[in-house]
Amino acid sequence: MNASVIVELVYLLSATLFVVGLKRLQSPATARGGNGLAALAMLLAIVATIAENQILSWTGILIGMAVGGLVGGVGARFVKMTDMPQMVGLFNGFGGGASALVAIAEYLSYTGGPGAGTAGVTMMLGTLIGAVTFSGSFIAFLKLQELMSGNPITFPGQNIANGLLFAAVLATAVMALGVGGTDPRTMFYALIGLSLVLGISLVIPIGGADMPVVISLLNSYSGLAASAAGFVIGNMVLIISGALVGASGLILTMLMCKGMNRSLANVAFGAFGGTASVDRASIGQRPHKRADADAVAAELGYVNSVVVVPGYGLAVAQAQHELRKVGDLLEARGVSVRYAIHPVAGRMPGHMNVLLAEADISYDKLFDLDEINDDFASTDAVLVVGANDVVNPAAREPGSAIAGMPILDVDKARRVIVMKRSLSPGFAGIDNDLFYMDHTLMFFGDAKQSMADLAREVRELG
Ligand code: NDP
Repeated sequence: MNASVIVELVYLLSATLFVVGLKRLQSPATARGGNGLAALAMLLAIVATIAENQILSWTGILIGMAVGGLVGGVGARFVKMTDMPQMVGLFNGFGGGASALVAIAEYLSYTGGPGAGTAGVTMMLGTLIGAVTFSGSFIAFLKLQELMSGNPITFPGQNIANGLLFAAVLATAVMALGVGGTDPRTMFYALIGLSLVLGISLVIPIGGADMPVVISLLNSYSGLAASAAGFVIGNMVLIISGALVGASGLILTMLMCKGMNRSLANVAFGAFGGTASVDRASIGQRPHKRADADAVAAELGYVNSVVVVPGYGLAVAQAQHELRKVGDLLEARGVSVRYAIHPVAGRMPGHMNVLLAEADISYDKLFDLDEINDDFASTDAVLVVGANDVVNPAAREPGSAIAGMPILDVDKARRVIVMKRSLSPGFAGIDNDLFYMDHTLMFFGDAKQSMADLAREVRELG
């Protein structure tokens, strides 16, 4: 068997592993293994490509793996869960940039334009999408890392300006192919520059709360750019893996939009996420009832059913292990404990599932919004841990900033306990009527400390 057949077989194996890996991401129970399979597939594909083209010696490949493994390992160890969106943003940017560089290198190997055939068109697509992904992801990273303002940056006529910029990008792409009388190379450089500006101008008007959706969309773009790069250099596994990333990123984007009851167009062009129109001074000024760990333990320890609603604050406080202890203690007392997971609780899809899995909370106790929402009316007590927008009844009021967003109907339970540090708003920046309801008790404090206190008090119940 000659070397190129072996490489093709390795590519086939990689492509199969990508599909199986992606399939296994469907459930938290198999997701970790699925991720491992996909990573193995990528390693096989890269090693096969490098070895076939004799770009590096085997020693060089091993050194590359060691350096890459070290960077990945350190990143995985030290980047906080709450910082994941910006890390993914950075990865997308590198992916888009790498795909653009492949397309650019291929273009520059032609003297004159490559012509308007498939090769030329895919080079233009790879350059355009890759450059937009690169600069857009970089801006998304800066916003999420708070190195620049997370609020939307808008100006009058912005959508028209973006439309004109896009038209200019398309025009330069056509001319860079060698169609029309202008110098193709000059047009190609203009295409790179304009695409980078387009990436920036598409992301700056998008605000804080929508950034994770943008990250997911840019993830999809990075897949499309990789696929285009695959066509440019005729690499089958790059085409397949890029298409898988492009499609899954788009599906995830649509799921996130659905979780917030927003259209993709509204996220991209609606400049939501600023809090300018909200009267922040009035937030948290209404009477509310407080409870301490002792009283909350009594509320939870003598009932039949408790539903826990985790949110972003659980992740900030890293209170998942203490939460699990409380859950175990309540169950030992005969209380049924379930966990209600809102699709956009936290700052990225699956955020809560990952946290609870880390604390070994069994998957069969986790319920999606659709599965559990009807049960709140017959639930004795709900414990809301660092969640806010996803339980805000304002979503039912037309005209509110989160109107129409599907919420967990926790206010229908007999007793609601909200664990957070203050009456401050959540990401949407609006007040929450739930905190002031008659049957709600506010249990103030950092979720980790409060949860540890609660565990102690539940243990001491008779
Ligand atoms: P929210 O951002 O609405 O609320 C989180 C709450 O946690 C805050 O009100 C804060 O209150 C509290 N908190 C913060 N730190 C701590 C701490 N150490 N201990 C206890 N409480 C703490 O979170 P939700 O999960 O309810 O909602 C997610 C939001 O993110 C939604 O608006 C959603 O649309 C948005 N979003 C989510 C995406 C996703 O994929 N998950 C994607 C895009 C947007 P306090 O300061 O008083 O403690």
